[in-house]
Amino acid sequence: MAGHAVTRTRFAPSPTGLLHLGHAYSALLAQSLADPGQFLLRIEDIDRDRCKPRFEQALKQDLAWLGLRWQEPVMRQSDRMAAYDRALTQLAPFCYPCRCRRGDIRAALSAPQEAALPAGPDGLIYPGTCQHRSMSDIGPGDVIRLDVARAFDHLRRDQLEFHDHAILSVGPHRMTRDQFISDIGDVILSRRGMGTSYHLAVVVDDAAQGVTLVTRGKDLFGATWIHLLLQHLLNLPQPTYHHHRLIRDDAGKRLAKRDDARAIRQFRDDGATPEDIRRLIGL
Ligand code: GLU
Repeated sequence: MAGHAVTRTRFAPSPTGLLHLGHAYSALLAQSLADPGQFLLRIEDIDRDRCKPRFEQALKQDLAWLGLRWQEPVMRQSDRMAAYDRALTQLAPFCYPCRCRRGDIRAALSAPQEAALPAGPDGLIYPGTCQHRSMSDIGPGDVIRLDVARAFDHLRRDQLEFHDHAILSVGPHRMTRDQFISDIGDVILSRRGMGTSYHLAVVVDDAAQGVTLVTRGKDLFGATWIHLLLQHLLNLPQPTYHHHRLIRDDAGKRLAKRDDARAIRQFRDDGATPEDIRRLIGL
Protein backbone atom coordinates (compact mmCIF):
# COMPACT_ATOMS: atom_id res chain seq x y z
CA MET A 1 0.00 0.00 0.00
CA ALA A 2 1.30 3.47 -0.84
CA GLY A 3 2.31 5.45 2.24
CA HIS A 4 0.38 8.54 3.23
CA ALA A 5 2.15 11.64 1.89
CA VAL A 6 2.84 14.01 4.77
CA THR A 7 1.35 17.49 4.48
CA ARG A 8 3.78 20.13 5.70
CA THR A 9 2.76 23.79 5.74
CA ARG A 10 4.35 27.03 6.87
CA PHE A 11 3.47 30.53 7.99
CA ALA A 12 6.09 32.98 6.73
CA PRO A 13 5.65 36.49 8.15
CA SER A 14 8.01 39.43 7.73
CA PRO A 15 8.71 41.07 11.11
CA THR A 16 7.93 44.60 9.93
CA GLY A 17 5.04 45.28 12.31
CA LEU A 18 2.56 43.67 14.67
CA LEU A 19 0.51 40.73 13.41
CA HIS A 20 -3.15 41.48 12.77
CA LEU A 21 -6.31 39.42 12.33
CA GLY A 22 -5.39 38.53 8.74
CA HIS A 23 -2.17 36.92 9.96
CA ALA A 24 -4.06 35.05 12.68
CA TYR A 25 -6.35 33.60 10.02
CA SER A 26 -3.45 32.66 7.75
CA ALA A 27 -1.40 31.01 10.50
CA LEU A 28 -4.32 29.09 12.05
CA LEU A 29 -5.45 27.86 8.64
CA ALA A 30 -1.91 26.71 7.78
CA GLN A 31 -1.64 24.78 11.04
CA SER A 32 -5.07 23.19 10.59
CA LEU A 33 -4.12 21.88 7.12
CA ALA A 34 -0.79 20.39 8.26
CA ASP A 35 -0.33 16.88 9.58
CA PRO A 36 0.43 16.81 13.32
CA GLY A 37 3.85 18.35 14.02
CA GLN A 38 4.29 19.46 10.38
CA PHE A 39 3.58 23.16 10.73
CA LEU A 40 6.58 25.49 10.33
CA LEU A 41 7.20 29.13 11.12
CA ARG A 42 9.66 30.98 8.87
CA ILE A 43 10.90 34.51 9.47
CA GLU A 44 11.12 36.40 6.16
CA ASP A 45 13.57 39.15 7.08
CA ILE A 46 15.55 39.81 3.89
CA ASP A 47 14.58 43.48 4.02
CA ARG A 48 16.99 44.42 6.83
CA ASP A 49 15.83 48.04 6.93
CA ARG A 50 12.19 47.24 7.62
CA CYS A 51 12.50 44.09 9.77
CA LYS A 52 12.99 44.52 13.52
CA PRO A 53 13.89 41.97 16.23
CA ARG A 54 11.16 43.37 18.48
CA PHE A 55 8.52 42.50 15.88
CA GLU A 56 9.94 38.99 15.54
CA GLN A 57 9.67 38.51 19.28
CA ALA A 58 6.16 39.99 19.35
CA LEU A 59 4.89 37.79 16.51
CA LYS A 60 6.19 34.62 18.19
CA GLN A 61 4.42 35.59 21.41
CA ASP A 62 1.18 36.38 19.59
CA LEU A 63 1.25 33.12 17.63
CA ALA A 64 1.96 31.05 20.75
CA TRP A 65 -0.88 32.82 22.55
CA LEU A 66 -3.21 31.89 19.67
CA GLY A 67 -2.29 28.24 20.26
CA LEU A 68 0.16 27.71 17.41
CA ARG A 69 3.07 25.28 17.88
CA TRP A 70 5.84 25.06 15.31
CA GLN A 71 8.96 23.01 14.73
CA GLU A 72 12.24 24.36 16.12
CA PRO A 73 14.66 25.72 15.08
CA VAL A 74 12.84 28.45 13.19
CA MET A 75 14.35 29.27 9.80
CA ARG A 76 15.32 32.90 9.35
CA GLN A 77 15.94 34.12 5.81
CA SER A 78 18.74 36.47 6.84
CA ASP A 79 20.76 33.30 7.69
CA ARG A 80 20.19 31.84 4.23
CA MET A 81 22.14 34.13 1.90
CA ALA A 82 24.53 31.36 0.79
CA ALA A 83 21.58 29.27 -0.43
CA TYR A 84 20.15 32.22 -2.38
CA ASP A 85 23.59 32.87 -3.89
CA ARG A 86 23.78 29.28 -5.09
CA ALA A 87 20.36 29.57 -6.70
CA LEU A 88 21.35 32.83 -8.42
CA THR A 89 24.46 31.15 -9.82
CA GLN A 90 22.28 28.37 -11.20
CA LEU A 91 19.94 30.93 -12.76
CA ALA A 92 22.71 33.18 -14.13
CA PRO A 93 22.37 31.89 -17.74
CA PHE A 94 18.84 33.36 -17.79
CA CYS A 95 19.65 36.59 -15.96
CA TYR A 96 20.95 40.06 -16.67
CA PRO A 97 22.03 42.96 -14.48
CA CYS A 98 19.82 46.05 -14.56
CA ARG A 99 20.64 49.57 -13.44
CA CYS A 100 17.28 51.19 -14.20
CA ARG A 101 15.64 53.16 -11.42
CA ARG A 102 11.93 53.78 -11.25
CA GLY A 103 12.29 57.09 -13.09
CA ASP A 104 14.17 55.40 -15.97
CA ILE A 105 11.46 52.76 -16.27
CA ARG A 106 8.74 55.38 -16.27
CA ALA A 107 10.56 57.31 -18.99
CA ALA A 108 11.08 54.17 -21.09
CA LEU A 109 7.39 53.33 -20.80
CA SER A 110 6.58 56.97 -21.56
CA ALA A 111 3.65 56.79 -19.18
CA PRO A 112 1.97 60.17 -18.75
CA GLN A 113 1.63 59.69 -15.01
CA GLU A 114 2.52 57.25 -12.23
CA ALA A 115 -1.01 55.78 -12.12
CA ALA A 116 -0.84 54.81 -15.80
CA LEU A 117 2.22 52.59 -15.33
CA PRO A 118 1.59 48.93 -16.15
CA ALA A 119 2.24 46.75 -13.08
CA GLY A 120 2.04 43.05 -12.26
CA PRO A 121 2.77 40.90 -9.19
CA ASP A 122 6.43 42.02 -9.18
CA GLY A 123 5.65 45.69 -9.61
CA LEU A 124 6.31 47.67 -12.81
CA ILE A 125 6.45 45.61 -15.98
CA TYR A 126 10.02 46.12 -17.06
CA PRO A 127 10.45 47.39 -20.65
CA GLY A 128 13.72 45.46 -21.16
CA THR A 129 16.15 48.37 -21.39
CA CYS A 130 19.06 46.39 -19.86
CA GLN A 131 18.17 43.02 -21.42
CA HIS A 132 21.25 43.07 -23.70
CA ARG A 133 23.65 43.28 -20.73
CA SER A 134 25.52 40.22 -19.54
CA MET A 135 26.07 39.02 -15.98
CA SER A 136 29.82 39.41 -16.42
CA ASP A 137 29.50 43.20 -16.39
CA ILE A 138 27.33 43.47 -13.30
CA GLY A 139 28.09 46.65 -11.39
CA PRO A 140 27.51 47.88 -7.84
CA GLY A 141 23.92 49.01 -7.39
CA ASP A 142 22.59 46.77 -10.17
CA VAL A 143 19.63 44.48 -9.55
CA ILE A 144 19.45 41.05 -11.22
CA ARG A 145 16.51 40.33 -13.49
CA LEU A 146 15.27 37.10 -15.00
CA ASP A 147 14.95 37.14 -18.79
CA VAL A 148 11.57 35.46 -18.84
CA ALA A 149 11.47 34.73 -22.57
CA ARG A 150 14.89 33.05 -22.39
CA ALA A 151 13.77 31.06 -19.34
CA PHE A 152 10.64 29.72 -21.08
CA ASP A 153 12.67 28.88 -24.19
CA HIS A 154 15.20 26.94 -22.11
CA LEU A 155 12.39 24.98 -20.45
CA ARG A 156 10.72 24.37 -23.83
CA ARG A 157 7.41 25.30 -22.25
CA ASP A 158 4.71 27.55 -23.49
CA GLN A 159 2.70 27.64 -20.28
CA LEU A 160 2.60 27.08 -16.54
CA GLU A 161 -0.25 25.57 -14.57
CA PHE A 162 -1.35 24.62 -11.09
CA HIS A 163 -4.47 23.62 -9.18
CA ASP A 164 -5.44 25.79 -6.26
CA HIS A 165 -6.23 23.60 -3.27
CA ALA A 166 -8.71 26.23 -2.03
CA ILE A 167 -10.81 26.18 -5.23
CA LEU A 168 -10.25 22.76 -6.79
CA SER A 169 -13.59 22.88 -8.58
CA VAL A 170 -12.31 25.52 -11.02
CA GLY A 171 -9.73 23.22 -12.61
CA PRO A 172 -6.13 24.16 -13.30
CA HIS A 173 -5.10 27.80 -13.56
CA ARG A 174 -2.92 28.53 -16.57
CA MET A 175 -0.46 31.21 -17.57
CA THR A 176 1.02 31.18 -21.06
CA ARG A 177 4.55 32.31 -21.90
CA ASP A 178 3.21 35.35 -23.74
CA GLN A 179 0.89 36.34 -20.89
CA PHE A 180 3.78 36.04 -18.45
CA ILE A 181 5.93 38.31 -20.62
CA SER A 182 3.21 40.94 -21.03
CA ASP A 183 1.53 40.80 -17.57
CA ILE A 184 4.49 40.09 -15.27
CA GLY A 185 7.68 40.72 -17.25
CA ASP A 186 11.33 40.31 -16.30
CA VAL A 187 11.11 39.92 -12.53
CA ILE A 188 13.83 40.94 -10.08
CA LEU A 189 15.67 38.03 -8.45
CA SER A 190 18.15 40.09 -6.48
CA ARG A 191 17.20 43.50 -5.15
CA ARG A 192 19.52 46.39 -4.46
CA GLY A 193 21.30 45.82 -1.16
CA MET A 194 19.45 42.58 -0.41
CA GLY A 195 21.29 39.85 -2.36
CA THR A 196 17.98 38.11 -3.15
CA SER A 197 14.29 38.89 -3.61
CA TYR A 198 11.10 37.67 -1.97
CA HIS A 199 10.38 35.36 -4.94
CA LEU A 200 13.75 33.66 -5.01
CA ALA A 201 14.02 33.28 -1.23
CA VAL A 202 10.54 31.83 -0.81
CA VAL A 203 11.03 29.24 -3.57
CA VAL A 204 14.46 28.14 -2.30
CA ASP A 205 13.23 27.91 1.29
CA ASP A 206 9.94 26.12 0.63
CA ALA A 207 11.96 23.44 -1.15
CA ALA A 208 14.71 23.30 1.50
CA GLN A 209 12.10 22.86 4.22
CA GLY A 210 10.12 20.23 2.34
CA VAL A 211 6.92 22.32 2.39
CA THR A 212 4.26 20.39 0.48
CA LEU A 213 1.35 22.83 0.81
CA VAL A 214 1.87 26.60 0.56
CA THR A 215 -1.00 28.43 2.23
CA ARG A 216 -1.20 32.20 1.88
CA GLY A 217 -3.58 35.01 1.03
CA LYS A 218 -5.19 35.52 -2.36
CA ASP A 219 -3.15 38.71 -2.69
CA LEU A 220 -0.15 36.50 -3.51
CA PHE A 221 -1.94 34.47 -6.20
CA GLY A 222 -0.18 36.37 -9.02
CA ALA A 223 3.25 35.78 -7.44
CA THR A 224 2.71 32.04 -7.70
CA TRP A 225 3.42 32.15 -11.46
CA ILE A 226 6.85 33.54 -10.73
CA HIS A 227 7.41 30.82 -8.13
CA LEU A 228 6.39 28.04 -10.52
CA LEU A 229 8.78 29.33 -13.19
CA LEU A 230 11.65 29.44 -10.69
CA GLN A 231 10.86 25.90 -9.46
CA HIS A 232 11.08 24.60 -13.03
CA LEU A 233 14.36 26.42 -13.68
CA LEU A 234 15.91 25.25 -10.40
CA ASN A 235 14.53 21.74 -10.73
CA LEU A 236 12.65 21.93 -7.44
CA PRO A 237 9.46 20.07 -6.58
CA GLN A 238 6.23 22.03 -7.01
CA PRO A 239 4.23 22.21 -3.79
CA THR A 240 0.44 22.45 -3.79
CA TYR A 241 -0.94 25.99 -3.34
CA HIS A 242 -3.87 27.16 -1.27
CA HIS A 243 -4.68 30.87 -1.63
CA HIS A 244 -7.13 31.78 1.09
CA ARG A 245 -9.60 34.64 1.48
CA LEU A 246 -8.43 37.92 2.96
CA ILE A 247 -9.67 39.34 6.22
CA ARG A 248 -10.99 42.85 5.67
CA ASP A 249 -11.79 45.73 7.98
CA ASP A 250 -15.31 47.06 8.52
CA ALA A 251 -14.97 49.27 5.44
CA GLY A 252 -14.03 46.21 3.34
CA LYS A 253 -10.38 47.21 3.05
CA ARG A 254 -7.63 44.60 3.27
CA LEU A 255 -5.79 44.79 6.59
CA ALA A 256 -2.21 46.06 6.60
CA LYS A 257 0.40 45.89 9.35
CA ARG A 258 -0.03 49.59 10.00
CA ASP A 259 -3.65 49.04 11.05
CA ASP A 260 -2.71 48.74 14.69
CA ALA A 261 -6.34 48.78 15.78
CA ARG A 262 -6.60 45.26 14.34
CA ALA A 263 -3.34 44.02 15.86
CA ILE A 264 -3.67 40.75 17.76
CA ARG A 265 -1.68 42.48 20.52
CA GLN A 266 -4.39 45.13 20.83
CA PHE A 267 -7.16 42.53 21.17
CA ARG A 268 -5.10 40.71 23.82
CA ASP A 269 -4.58 43.92 25.78
CA ASP A 270 -8.32 44.57 25.59
CA GLY A 271 -8.98 41.19 27.25
CA ALA A 272 -9.94 39.07 24.23
CA THR A 273 -9.29 35.30 24.31
CA PRO A 274 -7.89 33.18 21.46
CA GLU A 275 -11.45 31.86 21.00
CA ASP A 276 -12.70 35.42 20.50
CA ILE A 277 -10.10 35.89 17.74
CA ARG A 278 -11.18 32.67 16.03
CA ARG A 279 -14.80 33.83 16.11
CA LEU A 280 -13.88 37.23 14.67
CA ILE A 281 -12.13 35.67 11.68
CA GLY A 282 -14.73 32.96 11.13
CA LEU A 283 -12.72 29.92 12.18
N1 GLU B 1 6.53 36.96 3.84
C1 GLU B 1 5.35 37.16 3.07
C2 GLU B 1 4.46 38.19 3.74
O1 GLU B 1 4.73 38.61 4.83
C3 GLU B 1 4.54 35.89 2.88
C4 GLU B 1 5.20 34.99 1.93
C5 GLU B 1 4.43 33.73 1.52
O2 GLU B 1 3.57 33.26 2.28
O3 GLU B 1 4.77 33.21 0.48
O4 GLU B 1 3.48 38.57 3.17
